[in-house]
Amino acid sequence: MSRREGAARLLRFVLGALVIVSGCTASVGTESRDGARSADATDRALADLVLVQQGSMAVILTAPHGGRAEIPNVELRRAQDGTPGPWGGVHTGADLSTDVLASGIAAELRKLTGRDPYLVVAKFGRKYIDANRPPELGLEDPRARPYYDYYHRSIRRFVNEVRAKYPAGLLIDVHGQGKDPDVIMRGTINGRTVQRLMQRGGVDAVTGPRGVFGQLEANGFKVFPRNDVPPRGTSEDAGYKGGYTVFTYGSHNRDGIDAVQMEFGNRYRQKALLDKSARDAAHAIAAFYEAYLRP
Ligand SMILES: [Zn+2]
Repeated sequence: MSRREGAARLLRFVLGALVIVSGCTASVGTESRDGARSADATDRALADLVLVQQGSMAVILTAPHGGRAEIPNVELRRAQDGTPGPWGGVHTGADLSTDVLASGIAAELRKLTGRDPYLVVAKFGRKYIDANRPPELGLEDPRARPYYDYYHRSIRRFVNEVRAKYPAGLLIDVHGQGKDPDVIMRGTINGRTVQRLMQRGGVDAVTGPRGVFGQLEANGFKVFPRNDVPPRGTSEDAGYKGGYTVFTYGSHNRDGIDAVQMEFGNRYRQKALLDKSARDAAHAIAAFYEAYLRP
């Protein structure tokens, strides 16, 4: 991981140096102007398919599976749905309305706190990219890679920013599940991804009255596991205990922050209930923020 990051940094440095050099020697040439124009076009294409919003509080909302958009000139993944494998195997179906839910929670948080959470929401369909998998499992067509990278680069940038600006932060990865339509499933990889939060706030910071899942329950959601079951051992549902995103950015990593996966059951994502779910979840997150995050 760190070697790859090192290599990426070196590559960025070399590319940066090339830009400077070409800028010095050919600043009036058409070639560099065309280069700049196509770089702009690429950035626009990426931004069209991933919603990235700057935040002003130590909360990051991510949603990898709510998108429906086609990616131009990128082929559909050929891996068959249900193929077993690491990270939960192959799924190409969307987590219906989780993009709307994540954006709705963000808007409600702004009303409640006067601040914006950071947002990274995939608009591209899961049929093209599964952004909650490592790249070797999440995409097949190499032309999908820039979109995948843009999604994760944005999360990494925000995690780094939260780490630099605030004493602590929370990443919430928003998903949907149909196994138990009436609950939100808790995903902390059985406590691993919220290690630092529990060191300073105890188990209560997750499942207690002002904890993040305690607050979800206080705001009308049923949660699984129940809040009298602490996040350790094998308490969380094996299929929903937390995936690649919380594993990559969670606080068990030296460069991570506390991270939870919230798997909203089908009922909470019905059209008629979606606004209410966003509002209720935002109330829960705001109360948690007040108790455990506000600097
Ligand atoms: Zn999902």
